[in-house]
Amino acid sequence: MQIYYVNGSFEHKSDALISVEDRGFNFSDGVYEVIGFKNKKLLNFNKHVDRLKRSLFNLQIKSPYKNFKSLELIITRLIEINKLCGGFIYLQITRGNAKRDHLFPVNVNPNVVIFAFPQKDLSGISKGVKVGISEDIRWMRCDVKSISLLPNLLEKQKAYEKGFFEIWQIRNKFITEGSTSNAFIIDKLGNIITHPKNNLILGGVTRDVVIEIAKLNGIKVFEKPFSLADIKKCNEAFLTSTTVGVIPVKQVNNIKINSKKKGEITSFLSEKYDNFLNLQINE
Ligand code: PMP
Repeated sequence: MQIYYVNGSFEHKSDALISVEDRGFNFSDGVYEVIGFKNKKLLNFNKHVDRLKRSLFNLQIKSPYKNFKSLELIITRLIEINKLCGGFIYLQITRGNAKRDHLFPVNVNPNVVIFAFPQKDLSGISKGVKVGISEDIRWMRCDVKSISLLPNLLEKQKAYEKGFFEIWQIRNKFITEGSTSNAFIIDKLGNIITHPKNNLILGGVTRDVVIEIAKLNGIKVFEKPFSLADIKKCNEAFLTSTTVGVIPVKQVNNIKINSKKKGEITSFLSEKYDNFLNLQINE
């Protein structure tokens, strides 16, 4: 995973350089995506591209690609050059290089950096994780996948130091999402509840797929905010993201989630989600 893609060329990590005037470096003025791949096949690629286009549009960053097929070819080539089979792609696009000035520069070309990283060992978390609770201190455009992640870092670090895997953030008494994942509960009737996709959360690709799978299998999904009181009453809870898939949540702060029962619906969704990814490998 030593070869990085930077603005049109494939370079060894030590030669993969970006200007000190990069707006991403100076202002976090950029967006990113994390995309899985398996057997060299990109997973949920079109969904990631749709979100990437939305993020670029919302920040008024010029798209480096007219046709995102060329992006797919670049990433596929990067996977080949690095001799990889599975893992994740990190893709970052910033507004470009310019003298440090808050106003958008004119006539700049975006900077594109792409690299691959491996799948972490999930064996320690696949049976369930503990999540903490924190105030959601982020801005009001969490739907944009911006590289400006300081609030997420601060909260995740705090959570980690307290022994939690993730943090569920609360805004106005309702859970929005995790610092790196979307949050779900399943109520006593077997209905899934998760925060609506609006400016207060990042619309996760995994979230969308899991919701689709649930609905196709007759599980009702309510996209509405839920509170700590709802968590206390819930049957199951789980979180989703590209890098971890569907992971059961067995404890939220000091609330133990139905610890005696196996999370049947979560297990079902996790299995169906894996199948959905595997189908793309054979396409
Ligand atoms: N919310 C936040 C804040 C995230 O950082 C992520 C991971 N990028 C997600 C949700 C999950 O999104 P996805 O399923 O697309 O990885």
